[in-house]
Amino acid sequence: MRVARFAGEDDPRYGVVGEEDGVPTIAVLKGDPLYAGFELTGQKVPLDDVRLLAPVIPRSKVVGVGRNYAKHAVELGNDVPEHPLVFLKPNTSVIGPGDPIVYPEQTQDLHYEGELAVVIGRICKDVSVEDAPKVIFGYTVGNDVTARDLQRSDDQWARAKGFDTFCPLGPWIETNLDPADLRVTTELDGDLRQDGRTGDMVFSVADIIAYVSEFMTLLPGDVILTGTPEGVGPMQAGERVSVSVEGIGTLTNQVVPHD
Ligand code: MG
Repeated sequence: MRVARFAGEDDPRYGVVGEEDGVPTIAVLKGDPLYAGFELTGQKVPLDDVRLLAPVIPRSKVVGVGRNYAKHAVELGNDVPEHPLVFLKPNTSVIGPGDPIVYPEQTQDLHYEGELAVVIGRICKDVSVEDAPKVIFGYTVGNDVTARDLQRSDDQWARAKGFDTFCPLGPWIETNLDPADLRVTTELDGDLRQDGRTGDMVFSVADIIAYVSEFMTLLPGDVILTGTPEGVGPMQAGERVSVSVEGIGTLTNQVVPHD
């Protein structure tokens, strides 16, 4: 099932993406399915008529995992970590499909990082690897936008990865997906820049959830970015970046200059 969040007249609305008579359609839900379940209103709207929003605004945090693909660790001159290398992005960095990524004036080296994103479905702590699938609501596509020069100059990555607009998510959440071996690609203005498979992750989705939940409680709507394959590189203002994950869809955003 594909769960979308879209702009309503006043507040964001939620719905299930499907098809009716060959037309992509959203069956509108009564509330946020993370908290209110999947009760349908009976209303349906054509997908093309709505503006999709980030499918989730993390209630407390976006957890990132660094250097989780060996070839990506090597391309930046780093070792593959022995444990998941965890960082946080603020929920204020989240934007949706089609929203602009603002190129900050503090950086001269803004990078894309296409990633599989996990959406947590229930409050949990000390989750075992075996039980990890039970706490997952679904999966979406993420772009872990990074100011690479600031990542190198700062000991902590809060600034390099935490600017507003640095966490595009979307286009929707796929609730029925096996994350074991999915193709992850990133295109910049239509040129293929990253082409990896989640099967090459050093730590699996379940490994990451078990590791992170050992030290912090995960809440419904929290998001985990699972790391990026090799091929990261710079984006310039005006360029369009599209991240695709097999079985989910494509997330596209345009980079715009700061004011
Ligand atoms: Mg990343």
